[in-house]
Amino acid sequence: MNIVGFDKEFNRLRSLIKENTLPHAILFTGTEGIGKRQIATELSRIILCKERGEDGCDCLSCRAFREESHPDFHILTPTAKGKASPMIRIDEVGELLTDLARLPLLSKCRVALIDDADLMNEAASNRLLKTIEEPTGDIKFFLIASKRSKILPTILSRAMPVSFSALDENVIVKLLTERGAKEETAREAARLSFGSMKRAIDLIENDGLTVMDDCLKFLNDNLTHKKIFAMAEIMGKDEKKRISGFFSALTLILRDVLLYYEGAADLNGKYRDLIYKYDKARIFNLLSLTAEYEKRLFANVNLRLFIEGYLLKFRRLCL
Ligand SMILES: [Zn+2]
Repeated sequence: MNIVGFDKEFNRLRSLIKENTLPHAILFTGTEGIGKRQIATELSRIILCKERGEDGCDCLSCRAFREESHPDFHILTPTAKGKASPMIRIDEVGELLTDLARLPLLSKCRVALIDDADLMNEAASNRLLKTIEEPTGDIKFFLIASKRSKILPTILSRAMPVSFSALDENVIVKLLTERGAKEETAREAARLSFGSMKRAIDLIENDGLTVMDDCLKFLNDNLTHKKIFAMAEIMGKDEKKRISGFFSALTLILRDVLLYYEGAADLNGKYRDLIYKYDKARIFNLLSLTAEYEKRLFANVNLRLFIEGYLLKFRRLCL
């Protein structure tokens, strides 16, 4: 399998598996969408393999793994109940641990992959902790989380940490063009993806790149009250993911203009008019306003009012 961008981390873990010295709990952290789950899955296959874990191995275990029917491989992901946000609950951890306590059926051990482990509530974390401390039988845990800070310190101290930093822009461009994207489109998506391949693909496949043009138009136009209310009305019905894309695109464009002021970069021709409208101090203020709102976006907010508040402040900073 092709593990792009993280060969070093992958190879290190694979050699621990070969030497039989892999700790029983490993915590993967890093930006969402950079392939942590894919890597943990491939390592799980290697651990469970009955041969030597080679690519394309056709042993019974690897075949079952590829068919997603391996009896010794367990995946736990957060589920949403009612209106509550997705979470991993104590009873779900309990069920997983019951499965794990059984003797493996096909391989020498059992492997559990806990995705979005930062969405385990405290009770669930504590339940898991007991098994991580004193596992019964041969069990390996892969915990995957985007935010290390949200994992209980007791779990942190018992799991081997592996952190994945963002992918290099050029790596993303290469991957996107291999998937058939045009070079120019790939460059733009890579810039907007902040090192996340998932986000880059999203941008291309869900028309996310038009957001750059929308933002540019927004920055060039005069922001009247009438326009603010109209925008809030429309964006208030949008998905938060798209709003987040809007904030990211704004940030990128403003940062480019700022870099131009600092003499660090040539300005993309499309952005030239912005120099007359936004001086350095204004850009700093707008960037910090945008960062603040981007952080608050995923809290439980009335989206229309939220956008309205943002745009009104934006306008005030531009007066
Ligand atoms: Zn195999």
